[in-house]
Amino acid sequence: MRRFVVIGGDAAGMSAAAQATRGAEPVEVVVFERSQYTSYAACGLPYFVGGLVERSEQLVARSPEQHRANGIDVRTCHEVIAIDTEAGRVAVRRLADGAVVDEPYDDLLIATGATPVRPPLPGIDATGISGIQTIPDALALDEIIRVRRPRHAVVVGAGYIGLEMVEAFLLRGLAVTVVEKLPQPMSTLDPDMAAKVADSIRAQGADLRLGTGVEGFEVGDDGWVRAVATDAGPVPAEIVVMGLGVRANSRLASDAGIAVGPSGAIATDARMATSADHVWAAGDCAESFHRVSRRPVSIALGTHANKQGRVVGLNVTGTHARFPGVIGTAITKVGPLEIGRTGLSEREAAAAGFDAVGAVIEGTSRAHYYPDASAMTVKLIAERGTGRLLGAQIVGGAEAGKRIDALAVAVWSEMTVDDLAQLDLAYAPPFSPVWDPTLIAARKTAERSR
Ligand code: FAD
Repeated sequence: MRRFVVIGGDAAGMSAAAQATRGAEPVEVVVFERSQYTSYAACGLPYFVGGLVERSEQLVARSPEQHRANGIDVRTCHEVIAIDTEAGRVAVRRLADGAVVDEPYDDLLIATGATPVRPPLPGIDATGISGIQTIPDALALDEIIRVRRPRHAVVVGAGYIGLEMVEAFLLRGLAVTVVEKLPQPMSTLDPDMAAKVADSIRAQGADLRLGTGVEGFEVGDDGWVRAVATDAGPVPAEIVVMGLGVRANSRLASDAGIAVGPSGAIATDARMATSADHVWAAGDCAESFHRVSRRPVSIALGTHANKQGRVVGLNVTGTHARFPGVIGTAITKVGPLEIGRTGLSEREAAAAGFDAVGAVIEGTSRAHYYPDASAMTVKLIAERGTGRLLGAQIVGGAEAGKRIDALAVAVWSEMTVDDLAQLDLAYAPPFSPVWDPTLIAARKTAERSR
């Protein structure tokens, strides 16, 4: 029987492993995972810290024991330290006793994920400064809040994970300061849309300091963080979360001579195959093809990790499967504010060589006379001349964010804004105005893009 070895036991790795056990050809599936967890939802961590999810166990979709019961040989607390693509072997360190063993593979999946950026700033190792990527990170933050009862949290970085932590800290009753070097939060949005996010964060009571760079951390005699040192002066802090984005864990691959792409993630083809025979990559450590910019990108999202893992699981068991690429669709919320985006922003469209034009409209989630209609802003980006929809962004109240899905379908299928404006979308007063805001935005963008 062929042996399929997986490095990394979370979204991409376990999706591949589970698919492989159900494949057309029987394979032996072995997963090496350096932590004690498998299949945990990092996406849910901010909601556990915020108290919306009661127990961290709820975040684990399948434990190692459950995977074993399904026929997967899961070995937790095992770290793969080297790959030999010539011999078809990996070197694995057993973390319990440090012993290193050699394990053969017929097919190998690298699903090692990504590591949060943690710049070597003075004081960064002080107690009370953490990332938010693993269940132990979330448990530690929860314990600090319960036991030490800090009053002031600082979030460094105003990307989506940072903003989800702002909501979590506000829910736990802490005063929150957000320090962001760029002049806007959410760099995946255009500045005009990001300004609306900034307004909402401030209205929710957080102190958002844009254009402010972190220079280090002041540490008390007890080893705890006391303040975040910024280029605009110190910001008092008893607990700090770093949300500076992630970098693909591609080192294991590059050390083995496997090609890494321009984004720093492992280069893959449409089947998620790497440059080495019978070696595959999936999830945050792997590059994806962007269907609009036509360029390789590294977008660390669980939705891609699961799909790419499944594709690999199919490919190693005799089915020819392809991952069709990504278009950068993402959604998040901060308190009552929902934020969705898909395709290219105006800035990204220009960088990809498009002559792009954008239009912004204000709308509501329901008919204006129906109770609890919330306001939303929709921005569409289209190619001048052809009117092809290149991207969309939505910022608004309840029921705004998931409207991005219809726009994602339109971007994916290369619709024009004229086509989009004619779409037969569902209407009744509790669900939308008779002209949904996405359709009004399409009309306005169509006028501009001619
Ligand atoms: P990971 O989940 O990072 O798993 C990689 C695994 O490999 C880890 O368990 C690691 O221990 C193991 N590993 C690494 N190196 C080795 C080695 N050498 N040997 C053995 N094991 C190794 N995505 C969304 O789509 N929507 C969201 O709302 C969302 N929210 C998020 C919120 C937070 C706070 C975070 C941190 C992430 C969020 N994500 C979200 C991103 C999503 O969690 C990741 O994209 C997804 O987990 C990637 O899966 P992966 O399997 O590629 O990598």
